[in-house]
Amino acid sequence: MKRCLYCGKPLSDGQKKYCTEDCRMRAHAFQHFADRKIYSFLFLFIVGTLGIVVGSVLIAMHPGIGTGIIGLSIIVWGVNFFILPFGIPDSLHFFGILASIRITRILSLLLVVSGIVLSVVGFNG
Ligand SMILES: [Zn+2]
Repeated sequence: MKRCLYCGKPLSDGQKKYCTEDCRMRAHAFQHFADRKIYSFLFLFIVGTLGIVVGSVLIAMHPGIGTGIIGLSIIVWGVNFFILPFGIPDSLHFFGILASIRITRILSLLLVVSGIVLSVVGFNG
C-alpha cells in the first residue's frame, strides 16, 4: 500500500504521492527549506564532530575539560538536528516527512539533554 510522502496516511486510488494538496505544498516547502539550509546543517554537523574529536583527545590530558567539550559538541549536534530536522532518506519514505521530523526532534532533544549532563559533569569534575 502506498502512503502519503508527507503525513504517512494511506493513499486512495488515483493519488500518486500526497493525500491532499496541503500535504503536497508542505512537502515542497520542507524540501525547499532543506535545500536552502543544507550547508548550515553540514557546517554545524562538522563543528560538532570536530568538537567531539578535540574533546576525545583532551580527555587523555584533562578528563573533565575533554568530557565538557564533548558535551558542548553534542548540544551543538542536538540543536542542529532540532532546527534542521533532516531525517535520513529511508526514514522519510517509511514514516512520511512529518513523522520523520517529529522523530528527529525527539532524538535531538535527547542529544541536547545528554550533552548538558556531560558538559556539567565534565566541567565540574
Ligand atoms: Zn498527507
